[in-house]
Amino acid sequence: MPALATEPSAQAVHEHVATLARERPALEPLVQAFGLVQAAAAASRALLAAGGGLSDAPGDPGLLDLASLEPDVALLEQGVPLLGQAGPLRMDFHLATVAPLMLGAAAEAFPALAPVAAGLEAALSAGPGAEAMRRTCAQAMNSGDRDALAVLARRFDAPFGVLAFLLECLGRPALERAAAILGPKLQETPWTIWNRGRCPVCGGAPSMSLLQLGPQEPTEYLKNVSAQRWLCCSGCAHTWRFARTMCPACGHDEQQDREYFHVQGNADERVELCKRCNHYLLTMDVRDRLSAPDHRLAPLGLVHLDMLAQRRGYAPLAGNLWNLPEMAGFPDLAGGPEPPEAERA
Ligand SMILES: [Zn+2]
Ligand SMILES: [Zn+2]
Repeated sequence: MPALATEPSAQAVHEHVATLARERPALEPLVQAFGLVQAAAAASRALLAAGGGLSDAPGDPGLLDLASLEPDVALLEQGVPLLGQAGPLRMDFHLATVAPLMLGAAAEAFPALAPVAAGLEAALSAGPGAEAMRRTCAQAMNSGDRDALAVLARRFDAPFGVLAFLLECLGRPALERAAAILGPKLQETPWTIWNRGRCPVCGGAPSMSLLQLGPQEPTEYLKNVSAQRWLCCSGCAHTWRFARTMCPACGHDEQQDREYFHVQGNADERVELCKRCNHYLLTMDVRDRLSAPDHRLAPLGLVHLDMLAQRRGYAPLAGNLWNLPEMAGFPDLAGGPEPPEAERA
């Protein structure tokens, strides 16, 4: 059972954000800011799904046709994710379509980034050089080449991290669209073929995990016999099943090397620490819920558990602006006293 059966709309994102902000007023600025970006991503995804995206390189045979990409199980067994199986074919990010939505939202959410976002949007959208700029950005996004990113950062007079964040925002709608098309193609492949802590679609690290109802693998020290653990990709939002007790970062499976913390009165939301590799993972037990939460947003409501783990010296599997809040200009969230109600599970 995939954790995310339907693609949430921009409206659903706004409603989820409003609920999170009500539940955790202290986190409202953070939740609202990332909610804006997520809502723009949902609107962009809907445009792409409806066929309304303008190609980065119209007619270029080097662009990946997602519908025709089929999983190679032998490569999966070797740890090559689906997008890694596409060879030299490149992702079409539809930058002309998504740039106004995503960069507009990023500028509104993070005013300090607005000048760079506006410059990037103008360069991608208008003028004689726009098509060449779309190709340059798409190439840098496809390759992830740090030197190419550094050149672009200088071109827009931006810190490297800011430009990388904005390009990540720009790539998100197409990447999530790719997962929506490719994810179902993995349903016939037994989950044990992959069982890795990296996403089988894009190779990204998990932002969190969900415990869902379902028959599970037999293990002697598991108390809950009706739960499966699904990891949620921080890159493309795909969810995939993973062994209940294994650390997704290092693969270690010894319970004496794990610690679990939750906030008093809420054992369904917790953080798991691996003493072997010093990484942590957020987990929500959603077995009692009618539907799983949108895992693109759910980690925003768990920032207090990020803080707890990081103060103990543990690192997230997927670092992003909201679990490294000082990067986004939210210094209040990075400091302050430890939440007193945290307890060992
Ligand atoms: Zn992924
Ligand atoms: Zn580990």
